[in-house]
Amino acid sequence: MSKEKKRREALVYHAKPRPGKIKVVPTKPYSTQRDLALAYSPGVAEPCLEIKRDKETVYKYTSKGNIVAVISNGTAVLGLGDIGPEASKPVMEGKALLFKIFADIDAFDIELDTKDVDKFVETVKILAPTFGGINLEDIKAPEAFEIERRLKEELDIPVMHDDQHGTAIISAAALLNALELCGKKIEDVRIVISGAGAAAISCSRLYRAFGAKPENLVMLDSKGVIRSDRETLTDEKREFATDRKIDTLEEAMKDADVFIGLSIADIVSPEMLLSMADKPIVFAMANPDPEIAYDTAMATREDIIMATGRSDHPNQVNNVLGFPFIFRGALDVRATKINEEMKMAAVLALAQLAKQPVPEQVNIAYGEMRLTFGEEYIIPKPFDPRLIAEIPPAVAKAAMESGVARAPIQDWDRYRDELLQ
Ligand code: NAP
Ligand code: MG
Repeated sequence: MSKEKKRREALVYHAKPRPGKIKVVPTKPYSTQRDLALAYSPGVAEPCLEIKRDKETVYKYTSKGNIVAVISNGTAVLGLGDIGPEASKPVMEGKALLFKIFADIDAFDIELDTKDVDKFVETVKILAPTFGGINLEDIKAPEAFEIERRLKEELDIPVMHDDQHGTAIISAAALLNALELCGKKIEDVRIVISGAGAAAISCSRLYRAFGAKPENLVMLDSKGVIRSDRETLTDEKREFATDRKIDTLEEAMKDADVFIGLSIADIVSPEMLLSMADKPIVFAMANPDPEIAYDTAMATREDIIMATGRSDHPNQVNNVLGFPFIFRGALDVRATKINEEMKMAAVLALAQLAKQPVPEQVNIAYGEMRLTFGEEYIIPKPFDPRLIAEIPPAVAKAAMESGVARAPIQDWDRYRDELLQ
């Protein structure tokens, strides 16, 4: 299909038959006078009074516990940059659609017209009573770090900046499986991270939590290798500064086992790939065009395990494998936060799922003869119906074990059955 045809198709999809991608539907009967007297005045006063008496019952009488706010200020939208709140709305509506279809979570998209961190935080805090969780989206670094940190501290509902943690969780699952296939240990491997933005910082932190050694990490930003002797560095970059006396990507790639790209297109050359260690793991995740084109990388070396952010190649690091299921698990135990334990549980559950035999319907959905765990299948596919049965329980369990679950699950079999409905 030509570029122009694709453009028109996307515009028509969004405009017709009714503008946008999401709407609100009632969940209670509303056709008689009696129904309306229950739905609104006078009947509605009863749950109001119950909730006034005991605030927690808001989860019993309203939809709060199943609503997530997808909140952005449009400052770092996809690969499009700072396009403003209105222009970010299609993306936020899209995220709401994904929450709904993958995890039956009702998501409201909210676009805020501010770049001011204090105002952003204050506004979300004021809105929070409506929601069971907050998904922060497409907010520019470094502001995104502070916004998320403060909201996590100040709110008692799960808050997650998906661009940071979603990517970290999915790519960590892919990395653990790729390392297993290469017969390498995360404690031993040398990792180059190109990019020092929202996604790269969070990925690096999570890899460290899984055992990657700080001295084995080299991170680069638009100015080159982030060295500890560089003069001005944000706190997040300083956390990953290296003592090695190198400056360029070319130098960093020599003998590296893993390349993590969360930066920009076409900065890795075939020569750099050739200089990497045996069986290199290359996750080139810049969107829409990776740090090195898939075909170029595969033509350069036969022993590469490669992942990208694209759906037209194997091993797509797609955030939709994470956020719907992570919030599902967090909401179902009424978790006060999404903590490290819950994220790590999601990683392990995803990694584990990729190693299980793939149901026939998944093969059919992706037009594959047979997906099996290996170089070209290191993470599950989004349309895998097992995700909803496997990831939320793992996250919920981790929330309970780490003491952040306000409504622990007792009957796991029943919970799993409910998830599959
Ligand atoms: P971001 O916060 O804007 O960060 C971009 C980072 O790239 C910045 O640290 C920037 O350096 C750095 N950079 C720019 N040019 C560079 C170069 N030549 N060499 C090395 N680093 C360079 O964006 P983000 O949200 O982290 O996303 C980064 C990229 O990853 C985007 O392409 C995004 O689409 C992609 N991504 C993919 C997935 C996925 O596949 N699932 C998920 C998330 C993000 P400075 O700090 O010096 O400006
Ligand atoms: Mg995003």
